[in-house]
Amino acid sequence: MKRVLFIMIIICVTLSIARANAAEQSEVVTTIAPLHSLVQGVMGDSGSAALLLEGTASPHDFQLKPSQMTLLQKAKIIFYISDNLEVFLLRALDALPASTQAVAMAEQDGMVLLPIREGGAWEVHSHDSHSHEGHSHDNAHDHGHNDPHIWLDPDNAITMVKAITKALSDVHPENRSLYKANAVALIGKIEASDAKAAARLKSVKAVPYIVFHDAYQYFEAHYGLTAVGSITLDPAQAGSAKRLSELREKASETAARCIFREPQFSSRLSSTVAENTNMKLGTLDPLGADLTPGAGLYPALLDRLAVDLANCLQD
Ligand SMILES: [Zn+2]
Repeated sequence: MKRVLFIMIIICVTLSIARANAAEQSEVVTTIAPLHSLVQGVMGDSGSAALLLEGTASPHDFQLKPSQMTLLQKAKIIFYISDNLEVFLLRALDALPASTQAVAMAEQDGMVLLPIREGGAWEVHSHDSHSHEGHSHDNAHDHGHNDPHIWLDPDNAITMVKAITKALSDVHPENRSLYKANAVALIGKIEASDAKAAARLKSVKAVPYIVFHDAYQYFEAHYGLTAVGSITLDPAQAGSAKRLSELREKASETAARCIFREPQFSSRLSSTVAENTNMKLGTLDPLGADLTPGAGLYPALLDRLAVDLANCLQD
Protein backbone atom coordinates (compact mmCIF):
# COMPACT_ATOMS: atom_id res chain seq x y z
CA MET A 1 0.00 0.00 0.00
CA LYS A 2 2.82 2.36 0.96
CA ARG A 3 4.60 1.55 -2.27
CA VAL A 4 1.48 2.38 -4.31
CA LEU A 5 1.20 5.73 -2.55
CA PHE A 6 4.89 6.44 -3.20
CA ILE A 7 4.53 5.64 -6.90
CA MET A 8 1.46 7.86 -7.12
CA ILE A 9 3.36 10.75 -5.56
CA ILE A 10 6.21 10.28 -8.04
CA ILE A 11 3.73 10.29 -10.94
CA CYS A 12 2.07 13.47 -9.66
CA VAL A 13 5.38 15.27 -9.22
CA THR A 14 6.58 14.21 -12.69
CA LEU A 15 3.30 15.35 -14.27
CA SER A 16 3.37 18.75 -12.61
CA ILE A 17 6.99 19.31 -13.67
CA ALA A 18 6.08 18.40 -17.25
CA ARG A 19 3.13 20.81 -17.11
CA ALA A 20 5.25 23.65 -15.70
CA ASN A 21 7.76 23.19 -18.52
CA ALA A 22 5.03 23.30 -21.15
CA ALA A 23 3.73 26.58 -19.74
CA GLU A 24 7.19 28.11 -19.48
CA GLN A 25 8.06 27.36 -23.07
CA SER A 26 4.68 28.63 -24.31
CA GLU A 27 5.22 26.82 -27.54
CA VAL A 28 1.74 27.91 -28.58
CA VAL A 29 1.17 31.67 -28.95
CA THR A 30 -2.13 33.39 -29.75
CA THR A 31 -3.10 37.03 -30.38
CA ILE A 32 -6.59 38.10 -29.20
CA ALA A 33 -8.49 36.67 -26.20
CA PRO A 34 -11.38 35.04 -28.16
CA LEU A 35 -8.88 33.10 -30.29
CA HIS A 36 -6.79 32.26 -27.22
CA SER A 37 -9.95 30.86 -25.67
CA LEU A 38 -10.56 28.48 -28.57
CA VAL A 39 -6.90 27.34 -28.66
CA GLN A 40 -6.78 26.82 -24.89
CA GLY A 41 -10.06 24.93 -25.03
CA VAL A 42 -8.57 22.46 -27.52
CA MET A 43 -5.30 22.14 -25.59
CA GLY A 44 -7.08 21.56 -22.27
CA ASP A 45 -4.71 20.32 -19.58
CA SER A 46 -1.98 19.41 -22.06
CA GLY A 47 -0.40 22.86 -21.90
CA SER A 48 -1.12 26.56 -21.82
CA ALA A 49 -1.21 28.95 -24.75
CA ALA A 50 0.30 32.43 -24.44
CA LEU A 51 -1.95 35.45 -25.06
CA LEU A 52 -0.38 38.57 -26.62
CA LEU A 53 -3.23 41.12 -26.31
CA GLU A 54 -4.41 41.39 -22.73
CA GLY A 55 -6.94 43.70 -21.09
CA THR A 56 -8.30 46.48 -23.27
CA ALA A 57 -5.55 46.28 -25.91
CA SER A 58 -6.93 46.56 -29.46
CA PRO A 59 -5.40 44.69 -32.41
CA HIS A 60 -5.99 47.82 -34.54
CA ASP A 61 -3.26 49.84 -32.81
CA PHE A 62 -1.19 47.22 -30.97
CA GLN A 63 2.60 47.09 -30.87
CA LEU A 64 4.72 44.15 -29.77
CA LYS A 65 6.95 44.50 -26.70
CA PRO A 66 10.50 43.08 -26.83
CA SER A 67 9.49 40.30 -24.40
CA GLN A 68 6.69 39.33 -26.79
CA MET A 69 9.13 39.24 -29.71
CA THR A 70 11.15 36.74 -27.67
CA LEU A 71 7.99 34.75 -26.97
CA LEU A 72 7.28 34.60 -30.71
CA GLN A 73 10.87 33.56 -31.46
CA LYS A 74 10.52 30.56 -29.14
CA ALA A 75 7.04 29.54 -30.29
CA LYS A 76 6.42 26.39 -32.32
CA ILE A 77 3.02 27.48 -33.53
CA ILE A 78 1.33 30.89 -33.65
CA PHE A 79 -2.41 31.29 -34.14
CA TYR A 80 -3.75 34.62 -35.40
CA ILE A 81 -6.91 35.86 -37.13
CA SER A 82 -5.81 37.49 -40.37
CA ASP A 83 -3.20 39.63 -42.09
CA ASN A 84 -5.91 42.33 -42.09
CA LEU A 85 -6.33 42.33 -38.31
CA GLU A 86 -3.00 41.71 -36.55
CA VAL A 87 -1.00 44.03 -38.76
CA PHE A 88 1.50 44.42 -35.88
CA LEU A 89 2.43 40.75 -36.29
CA LEU A 90 3.37 40.67 -39.95
CA ARG A 91 6.94 41.95 -39.75
CA ALA A 92 7.64 39.75 -36.71
CA LEU A 93 6.35 36.67 -38.57
CA ASP A 94 8.77 37.34 -41.44
CA ALA A 95 11.68 37.27 -38.98
CA LEU A 96 10.79 33.89 -37.39
CA PRO A 97 12.65 30.62 -37.97
CA ALA A 98 11.32 28.65 -40.96
CA SER A 99 10.17 25.86 -38.62
CA THR A 100 7.67 28.14 -36.84
CA GLN A 101 4.12 27.61 -38.00
CA ALA A 102 1.88 30.66 -38.30
CA VAL A 103 -1.77 29.74 -38.77
CA ALA A 104 -4.14 32.48 -40.00
CA MET A 105 -7.73 31.60 -39.11
CA ALA A 106 -9.23 33.64 -41.97
CA GLU A 107 -7.41 31.41 -44.45
CA GLN A 108 -8.87 28.12 -43.17
CA ASP A 109 -11.29 26.04 -45.25
CA GLY A 110 -14.95 26.61 -44.50
CA MET A 111 -14.53 30.07 -42.95
CA VAL A 112 -17.37 32.43 -43.83
CA LEU A 113 -15.80 35.72 -44.99
CA LEU A 114 -17.73 38.94 -45.55
CA PRO A 115 -16.39 41.88 -47.58
CA ILE A 116 -15.51 45.10 -45.73
CA ARG A 117 -18.72 47.05 -45.42
CA GLU A 118 -18.82 50.33 -47.31
CA GLY A 119 -21.61 52.64 -48.38
CA GLY A 120 -24.50 54.14 -46.43
CA ALA A 121 -23.57 55.07 -42.88
CA TRP A 122 -20.58 52.73 -43.06
CA GLU A 123 -18.85 55.25 -45.29
CA VAL A 124 -18.55 58.89 -44.34
CA HIS A 125 -19.02 60.46 -47.79
CA SER A 126 -22.20 58.65 -48.79
CA HIS A 127 -24.38 61.74 -48.58
CA ASP A 128 -22.29 64.02 -50.74
CA SER A 129 -20.35 61.99 -53.26
CA HIS A 130 -20.28 65.08 -55.51
CA SER A 131 -17.74 66.66 -53.16
CA HIS A 132 -14.18 65.36 -52.95
CA GLU A 133 -12.98 67.67 -50.27
CA GLY A 134 -11.32 66.09 -47.27
CA HIS A 135 -12.35 62.55 -48.07
CA SER A 136 -9.07 61.03 -49.06
CA HIS A 137 -8.24 59.75 -45.55
CA ASP A 138 -11.55 58.14 -44.68
CA ASN A 139 -10.40 54.73 -45.78
CA ALA A 140 -6.79 55.11 -44.65
CA HIS A 141 -7.16 52.11 -42.35
CA ASP A 142 -7.59 49.46 -44.99
CA HIS A 143 -8.58 46.10 -43.52
CA GLY A 144 -8.01 44.53 -46.97
CA HIS A 145 -10.85 43.00 -48.92
CA ASN A 146 -12.47 40.97 -46.16
CA ASP A 147 -13.75 42.10 -42.78
CA PRO A 148 -11.35 40.42 -40.31
CA HIS A 149 -13.72 40.26 -37.30
CA ILE A 150 -14.59 36.68 -38.24
CA TRP A 151 -14.73 35.24 -34.70
CA LEU A 152 -18.00 37.03 -33.94
CA ASP A 153 -19.87 34.45 -36.03
CA PRO A 154 -20.15 31.34 -33.80
CA ASP A 155 -20.18 29.12 -36.90
CA ASN A 156 -16.77 30.55 -37.77
CA ALA A 157 -15.62 29.91 -34.20
CA ILE A 158 -16.53 26.24 -34.64
CA THR A 159 -14.63 26.14 -37.94
CA MET A 160 -11.70 27.70 -36.08
CA VAL A 161 -11.85 25.02 -33.36
CA LYS A 162 -11.61 22.33 -36.04
CA ALA A 163 -8.67 24.05 -37.76
CA ILE A 164 -6.89 24.54 -34.42
CA THR A 165 -7.41 20.85 -33.56
CA LYS A 166 -5.84 19.81 -36.84
CA ALA A 167 -2.89 22.20 -36.56
CA LEU A 168 -2.12 21.21 -32.96
CA SER A 169 -2.43 17.50 -33.81
CA ASP A 170 0.18 17.94 -36.54
CA VAL A 171 2.60 19.36 -33.94
CA HIS A 172 1.68 16.84 -31.20
CA PRO A 173 0.24 13.69 -32.82
CA GLU A 174 0.41 11.96 -29.41
CA ASN A 175 -2.31 14.33 -28.16
CA ARG A 176 -4.62 13.90 -31.13
CA SER A 177 -7.42 12.08 -29.29
CA LEU A 178 -7.25 14.47 -26.33
CA TYR A 179 -7.51 17.49 -28.66
CA LYS A 180 -10.45 15.90 -30.47
CA ALA A 181 -12.33 15.20 -27.24
CA ASN A 182 -11.67 18.75 -25.99
CA ALA A 183 -12.82 20.18 -29.33
CA VAL A 184 -16.10 18.25 -29.20
CA ALA A 185 -16.76 19.54 -25.66
CA LEU A 186 -15.88 23.12 -26.65
CA ILE A 187 -18.09 23.05 -29.75
CA GLY A 188 -20.95 21.87 -27.52
CA LYS A 189 -20.45 24.90 -25.26
CA ILE A 190 -20.29 27.29 -28.22
CA GLU A 191 -23.52 25.83 -29.63
CA ALA A 192 -25.24 26.19 -26.26
CA SER A 193 -24.18 29.85 -25.96
CA ASP A 194 -25.20 30.45 -29.56
CA ALA A 195 -28.71 29.06 -28.94
CA LYS A 196 -29.05 31.17 -25.78
CA ALA A 197 -27.91 34.31 -27.62
CA ALA A 198 -30.34 33.67 -30.49
CA ALA A 199 -33.24 33.30 -28.04
CA ARG A 200 -32.22 36.47 -26.19
CA LEU A 201 -31.89 38.56 -29.36
CA LYS A 202 -35.07 37.33 -31.04
CA SER A 203 -37.28 40.19 -29.85
CA VAL A 204 -34.80 43.00 -30.74
CA LYS A 205 -33.77 41.89 -34.25
CA ALA A 206 -35.54 44.82 -35.91
CA VAL A 207 -34.41 47.53 -33.47
CA PRO A 208 -31.85 49.84 -35.13
CA TYR A 209 -28.57 50.80 -33.42
CA ILE A 210 -25.16 52.34 -34.08
CA VAL A 211 -21.80 50.78 -33.13
CA PHE A 212 -18.43 52.37 -32.42
CA HIS A 213 -16.39 50.61 -35.08
CA ASP A 214 -17.59 48.17 -37.68
CA ALA A 215 -16.60 45.00 -35.85
CA TYR A 216 -19.98 43.27 -35.62
CA GLN A 217 -20.99 42.47 -39.16
CA TYR A 218 -20.58 38.71 -38.60
CA PHE A 219 -22.59 38.83 -35.37
CA GLU A 220 -25.35 40.85 -37.07
CA ALA A 221 -25.53 38.50 -40.04
CA HIS A 222 -25.64 35.43 -37.80
CA TYR A 223 -28.43 36.73 -35.55
CA GLY A 224 -30.27 38.87 -38.12
CA LEU A 225 -29.78 42.20 -36.30
CA THR A 226 -30.30 45.76 -37.58
CA ALA A 227 -27.14 47.88 -37.15
CA VAL A 228 -27.46 51.10 -39.17
CA GLY A 229 -23.99 52.62 -38.93
CA SER A 230 -20.63 52.91 -37.21
CA ILE A 231 -18.92 55.98 -35.78
CA THR A 232 -15.58 55.22 -37.33
CA LEU A 233 -14.17 52.96 -40.02
CA ASP A 234 -10.78 53.23 -38.44
CA PRO A 235 -10.99 52.76 -34.67
CA ALA A 236 -7.49 54.16 -34.25
CA GLN A 237 -8.61 57.54 -35.60
CA ALA A 238 -11.17 60.06 -34.39
CA GLY A 239 -14.34 60.42 -36.44
CA SER A 240 -14.64 63.76 -38.24
CA ALA A 241 -17.20 66.37 -37.20
CA LYS A 242 -18.89 65.80 -40.53
CA ARG A 243 -19.21 62.09 -39.91
CA LEU A 244 -20.63 62.67 -36.45
CA SER A 245 -23.34 64.99 -37.75
CA GLU A 246 -24.17 62.52 -40.52
CA LEU A 247 -24.49 59.78 -37.94
CA ARG A 248 -26.86 61.90 -35.87
CA GLU A 249 -28.94 62.44 -38.97
CA LYS A 250 -28.88 58.70 -39.66
CA ALA A 251 -29.80 58.00 -36.05
CA SER A 252 -32.89 60.20 -36.18
CA GLU A 253 -33.88 58.96 -39.66
CA THR A 254 -33.74 55.34 -38.56
CA ALA A 255 -34.89 55.97 -34.97
CA ALA A 256 -31.79 54.15 -33.70
CA ARG A 257 -32.42 53.21 -30.09
CA CYS A 258 -28.83 52.69 -28.94
CA ILE A 259 -25.30 53.73 -29.63
CA PHE A 260 -22.54 51.51 -28.32
CA ARG A 261 -19.10 52.43 -27.03
CA GLU A 262 -16.20 49.95 -26.73
CA PRO A 263 -13.87 49.44 -23.75
CA GLN A 264 -10.88 49.46 -26.14
CA PHE A 265 -11.49 53.11 -27.08
CA SER A 266 -12.52 56.40 -25.46
CA SER A 267 -16.29 56.77 -25.06
CA ARG A 268 -16.12 60.49 -26.01
CA LEU A 269 -17.26 60.02 -29.62
CA SER A 270 -20.14 57.72 -28.74
CA SER A 271 -21.32 60.14 -26.05
CA THR A 272 -21.04 63.08 -28.47
CA VAL A 273 -23.22 61.38 -31.09
CA ALA A 274 -25.76 60.39 -28.42
CA GLU A 275 -26.01 63.97 -27.05
CA ASN A 276 -29.40 65.61 -27.51
CA THR A 277 -30.85 62.51 -29.12
CA ASN A 278 -33.13 59.83 -27.70
CA MET A 279 -30.44 57.19 -28.11
CA LYS A 280 -29.29 55.20 -25.09
CA LEU A 281 -25.56 54.69 -24.58
CA GLY A 282 -24.50 51.05 -24.24
CA THR A 283 -21.23 49.11 -24.27
CA LEU A 284 -20.25 46.35 -26.67
CA ASP A 285 -16.93 44.55 -26.38
CA PRO A 286 -15.83 42.44 -29.36
CA LEU A 287 -12.80 41.04 -27.46
CA GLY A 288 -13.96 40.30 -23.91
CA ALA A 289 -11.58 42.71 -22.11
CA ASP A 290 -13.03 42.10 -18.65
CA LEU A 291 -13.64 38.38 -19.03
CA THR A 292 -11.13 35.91 -17.60
CA PRO A 293 -8.86 34.60 -20.38
CA GLY A 294 -9.12 30.85 -20.89
CA ALA A 295 -11.26 28.17 -22.48
CA GLY A 296 -14.47 29.65 -21.06
CA LEU A 297 -13.98 33.14 -22.50
CA TYR A 298 -15.44 32.59 -25.97
CA PRO A 299 -18.82 31.15 -24.89
CA ALA A 300 -18.97 33.89 -22.20
CA LEU A 301 -18.24 36.53 -24.85
CA LEU A 302 -21.25 35.41 -26.92
CA ASP A 303 -23.44 35.56 -23.80
CA ARG A 304 -22.13 39.01 -22.93
CA LEU A 305 -22.66 40.48 -26.40
CA ALA A 306 -26.22 39.16 -26.53
CA VAL A 307 -27.02 40.47 -23.03
CA ASP A 308 -25.51 43.93 -23.68
CA LEU A 309 -27.32 44.30 -27.01
CA ALA A 310 -30.66 43.04 -25.74
CA ASN A 311 -30.54 45.15 -22.55
CA CYS A 312 -29.98 48.37 -24.47
CA LEU A 313 -32.30 47.62 -27.40
CA GLN A 314 -35.26 46.52 -25.30
CA ASP A 315 -37.75 49.22 -24.28
ZN1 LIG B 1 -11.91 45.86 -35.10
